[in-house]
Amino acid sequence: MERANLWNEYSKTQLKELELFAKDYRDFLDAGKTERECVESIINLIEQEGYVELARLQKENRSAAPGDKVYCVNMDKSIVLYQIGTEPMEKGMNILGAHLDSPRLDVKQNPLYEDSGFAYLDTHYYGGIKKYQWVTLPLAIHGVVVKKDGTTQIIRIGDEDEDPVFFISDLLIHLAQEQMEKKGVKVVEGEALDLIVGNKPIHITPKEKGEQDGKSVKDAVKEGILAILKEQYDMTEEDFVSAELEIVPADLAREAGFDRSMILAYGQDDRVCSFAALRAMLAAKNPERTLCVLLVDKEEIGSVGATGMQSNFFENTTAELMEITGQYSELALRRCLANSCMLSADVTSAFDPNYASCFDKRNAAMFGKGPVFNKFTGSRGKSGSNDANAEFIGKLRGILDAAKVRYQTSELGKVDVGGGGTIAYILALYGMNVIDCGVAVLNMHAPHEATSKADVYETYRCYHAFLEGVKES
Ligand code: MN
Ligand code: MN
Repeated sequence: MERANLWNEYSKTQLKELELFAKDYRDFLDAGKTERECVESIINLIEQEGYVELARLQKENRSAAPGDKVYCVNMDKSIVLYQIGTEPMEKGMNILGAHLDSPRLDVKQNPLYEDSGFAYLDTHYYGGIKKYQWVTLPLAIHGVVVKKDGTTQIIRIGDEDEDPVFFISDLLIHLAQEQMEKKGVKVVEGEALDLIVGNKPIHITPKEKGEQDGKSVKDAVKEGILAILKEQYDMTEEDFVSAELEIVPADLAREAGFDRSMILAYGQDDRVCSFAALRAMLAAKNPERTLCVLLVDKEEIGSVGATGMQSNFFENTTAELMEITGQYSELALRRCLANSCMLSADVTSAFDPNYASCFDKRNAAMFGKGPVFNKFTGSRGKSGSNDANAEFIGKLRGILDAAKVRYQTSELGKVDVGGGGTIAYILALYGMNVIDCGVAVLNMHAPHEATSKADVYETYRCYHAFLEGVKES
């Protein structure tokens, strides 16, 4: 079974819309390189579209009714949006669920040290990365520093033309004979991913020198960095303890190829599906079923923690929404969740001709052939997978064909070569229908990942058709 190439299928109008969509998507990537930044830019966007925060409705003792748009934020790192439908919520929702976190390096809690005239920030990698890919790149620092008094300092340095960048050194090839013999996993080890942040000793005036009896300042480069942090961010070394600082590539999303058919950027897993889901939600109008877009954190480390999919945030928020629409009971909530349908909007591996042996070509996702459905993920004998129901897939085929959305199916690589998971299996625990559906990505989890503009646009069309097309569970 061969799938058509989207580029041959689009009308002139669609091609124009595709380019505008791709530009907005690149702007979204540039605005949000951390989950916190993504949540902030999403709030700015949806408030203009009439979404109201659930907490505000509750505070003002207001109820909500069909047609209303409501959102709720969890610890500034995950967010859920609802458009309330005309049908009772216990009949179920149409849910798009994606994640906003991406692989990166996190700054440790006691990170700053000096060695041989270099000041470093010690890091701990987050998510599945090939560590050797992160050396010698221009890197940026994004995040927050929370002081004891509760005030938050936002840090975002490295993206602007005038900003400095940071980097991790690598051994020169001339001396790398031994290193090059190592296994990939050992070529650069986790503790070698220390970020160089300075090299200039703090400037001591002659008067200050005198006061110190001519003794040189210990760790003068580190002291210099601390002086800058104090001056620019009113931050002390102790403040790293309550900071969340993420090291990410310091460049912006770019069009790729002479034909500009692709996008090369950091963090496309899974901001590409998050963006497509968000825009599909904004495009969906007057729903019968309640529509929901759920954008979570911590997927890359197993959906753990209060902001990950395994937390009760989504269930609790849905209960609160049912309460302010006058529909809540424990049983109605359970029915709502069980009767929902979900696309687990996450990326999948694109077929890479350079590594063809890792894929089953007939069951691999191809660039330019549309959103990809993975009936299951997992590894080996589908272990750890959500295996979607054939009946649900049959229904989706009908909806997508009617909306003239093109799509493809794939498995994440060849049987027995590896695998992976998404949030699909967690939502499936409620007994709802869930299938993985997202954009194919080349060099997934690398500092720069590639997607096809056509796939990004068609995935948005697919999500839109799903939100408006599913009428019952
Ligand atoms: Mn993902
Ligand atoms: Mn991932």
